[in-house]
Amino acid sequence: MSMNNIEVCPHCDKKMDLKNAPYKQNGEYLGDFEAYICPSCGRVFYTNKGYAEMSSFLMKKK
Ligand SMILES: [Zn+2]
Repeated sequence: MSMNNIEVCPHCDKKMDLKNAPYKQNGEYLGDFEAYICPSCGRVFYTNKGYAEMSSFLMKKK
């Protein structure tokens, strides 16, 4: 298994679903961003695109 395979949950070794996941910071909902979500443990791993959208969103918010 490749360590760079973001599509597979490192905790469950299961293939994750590509979805938009809600992002919260300090309990405040900031929006939905592209992420892989593990169907087994529910962990969310934001994609590079998701992170990029998140940071541009946070920049605008300031
Ligand atoms: Zn998992």
